Amino acid sequence: AYLDRIAAVDGDVHAFLHVDAEGALAAAREADERRAAGSVRSALDGVPVAVKDVLTIKGLPTTCGSKILEGWVPPYDATVVARLREAGLPILGKTNMDEFAMGSSTEHSAYGPTHNPWDLDRIPGGSGGGSAAAVAAFEAPLAIGTDTGGSIRQPGAVTGTVGVKPTFGGVSRFGLVAMANSLDQAGPVTRTVLDSALLHEVIGGYDPQDSTSIDQPLPALVAAARQGASGDMSGVRVGVIKELGGDGYQAGVRARFDEAVQLLVEAGAEVVEVSCPSFVHALAAYYLIMPSEASSNLAKFDAMRYGLRVLPDGVENPSAEEVMRATRDAGFGDEVKRRIILGTYALSSGYYDAYYGQAQKVRTLISRDFAAAFEQADVLVSPTAPTTAFRIGEKLDDPVAMYLNDIATIPANLAGVPGISLPSGLADEDGLPAGFQILAPALADDRLYRVGAALE
Ligand code: GLN
Repeated sequence: AYLDRIAAVDGDVHAFLHVDAEGALAAAREADERRAAGSVRSALDGVPVAVKDVLTIKGLPTTCGSKILEGWVPPYDATVVARLREAGLPILGKTNMDEFAMGSSTEHSAYGPTHNPWDLDRIPGGSGGGSAAAVAAFEAPLAIGTDTGGSIRQPGAVTGTVGVKPTFGGVSRFGLVAMANSLDQAGPVTRTVLDSALLHEVIGGYDPQDSTSIDQPLPALVAAARQGASGDMSGVRVGVIKELGGDGYQAGVRARFDEAVQLLVEAGAEVVEVSCPSFVHALAAYYLIMPSEASSNLAKFDAMRYGLRVLPDGVENPSAEEVMRATRDAGFGDEVKRRIILGTYALSSGYYDAYYGQAQKVRTLISRDFAAAFEQADVLVSPTAPTTAFRIGEKLDDPVAMYLNDIATIPANLAGVPGISLPSGLADEDGLPAGFQILAPALADDRLYRVGAALE
């Protein structure tokens, strides 16, 4: 049924870069046989899933939305993918994304943009717009995204889906093509909070192949979602982050946010306002740290090891450096080049203390703000993104306007804390979905599900 749906609507939505109909059907048949024999592997055995094209799947192309990886077929499964298979989930295919996960609209994909199923002239968010649009358009019941600065949560917000960025280290990064190793985290994209909890339990937990993986059992996420669904929030302290709201946030997004907070009050939660003064510097710090790590990671695309190789025009016997230059020039898009230049500059000797070092200090201040806020509240809340989905093309020529979409999501990545975005309703001005973000302390991902489920 999902493959039929993809065939019917993906020409318009363009959520997928690669559909593996054969592999998905074979896995689904095996799941049917297990079910008939009464031996299911997990609660999600047989439920199909789409995977963002930044995670490797053995034998299927992985492009990261970039021309430079065209033709590369990885010889191994990411741990997340291996766990999906072990739990019996058929994999439908790979979803579209901004090139190397850089962007907030999926317009930076080298393979063309994904369209928001709510209005095809609008963006589905990014970088994981393909995963969110696939779920929103009923092309997949579940998807996997990755979130470095908001790429699961912001697409969730603008497509009316649920997206979770787990605690940093809670889900293995093995086989996740790195953009910024200290920020990247894979997580669920679904239609309901309970579905996210179920999927999170499948993909999460310790993996010795990832040196930053946390060697501790996951909290009981599904149980927390079920508990929250009872709707009783008494004893739960909710902190509204003062700095994430107000000016710059669309009125309809704010109205839906205020209503959701009111619902929590009615459910018995205690609501307080918390202040995180360093958050105003989060965007600036992120756009130094992320390009620095990314510029280093992308150095491996040297025309020798992966995918594309372009020979320079009119050069006989080109040197390795000339081939590398021609390949990187043709293979990377403008946004990727912008960030490589920014990151390389920030890491240059003599500039380190002024930029990268300074940004790391801001990062520490942000973690301290979180620590202080979590003394006053069990969870923190804000709108996920300042606006609903904007029109395709609207912010393409203005990188800073594009970066501002992540103002509310980035602090969680810098501090490594988990966050969820869930739909809070439609904004009055445009009838488009708005997102509600819940943040919890590191390792307390269960709180996201408890409070999130109470709002559904
Ligand atoms: N939009 C942000 C960026 O461009 C976040 C991307 C992400 O989370 N992968 O960096």
